[in-house]
Amino acid sequence: VDVFLRPIDKITGVLESYPKGIAGFRRFLRLIDTDPDIADRKDAAEVQRLAGHIRYDRVSFSYDEGRTVLRDVDLDLAAGETIAIVGPSGAGKTTLCSLLPRFYEPTAGRILIDGIDIADMTQASLRRQIGVVQQDVFLFGGTLRDNIAYGDLDASEEAVMEAARRARLEEVISGLPAGLDTVVGERGVKLSGGQKQRVAIARIFLKNPPILILDEATSALDTATEAAIQQALNELSSGRTTLIIAHRLATVRHAHRIVVLTENGIAEQGPHDKLLEQRGLYAKLHSAQQLGLVG
Ligand code: ATP
Repeated sequence: VDVFLRPIDKITGVLESYPKGIAGFRRFLRLIDTDPDIADRKDAAEVQRLAGHIRYDRVSFSYDEGRTVLRDVDLDLAAGETIAIVGPSGAGKTTLCSLLPRFYEPTAGRILIDGIDIADMTQASLRRQIGVVQQDVFLFGGTLRDNIAYGDLDASEEAVMEAARRARLEEVISGLPAGLDTVVGERGVKLSGGQKQRVAIARIFLKNPPILILDEATSALDTATEAAIQQALNELSSGRTTLIIAHRLATVRHAHRIVVLTENGIAEQGPHDKLLEQRGLYAKLHSAQQLGLVG
């Protein structure tokens, strides 16, 4: 358990969830490995709660010399806006989002939040502004209450309950032998993928950051669970600047704006209906997915 807790502490609580499976685990380790390379600047500012206006200003990035993953990306998100990033596998959707908590540094350009370059903020204060929900969620061996309170260790009992309620966990809790005091995880009650996802959401309700990154689940959940999670996510993203890494086009319709990313940068952006009318790449991806060709 400790082995898992330590890296999570090390990344200062930004990962509310924990990618499982070998690929996800490797990616997670890479994130942690990269972390110490990015030190706070001497004069880095401890920022207080930001509004969440995000601006990518000619951002380029490559993992290794030679191949550029992002080239001159300009992207502006109003505070409270929800964008869904779609595009072919490998286009850089995840990479684009992972620059925001500074898991990696841009090779050129800068990212500003409320006009402040994130490179000029302390990592800890930057990461307090951001909640991340990844596809698979890590629970440590403890009670359900502890697992939720991980979002804010000083939270009151009422605040934990409220977060659980907003994350649509109430029914789950009433079905457990000892409610919130039920031990979960390896040695306790095993929660389903959909239940764990709601624990991750509850953590973020407690943390209450102005910015949210959602790595949309690719695995299918049953319809009722999916609806509960979708409702909880809608409520969570409301009033927060939200970036959705979208794998299924069906769920992106309601984003304020859809950004289509390709290897050559942002190809198109706009609301769902407008992009369909445009009959460009989004329309193509959309009809391919409806025919069941991708995703
Ligand atoms: P998907 O839809 O498959 O998740 P994506 O659009 O999110 O793809 P990224 O995961 O951002 O794409 O990957 C963009 C490119 O960068 C890919 O070619 C990928 O192989 C590469 N890449 C991703 N992470 C790393 C890494 N840690 N080191 C080196 N290359 C990486």
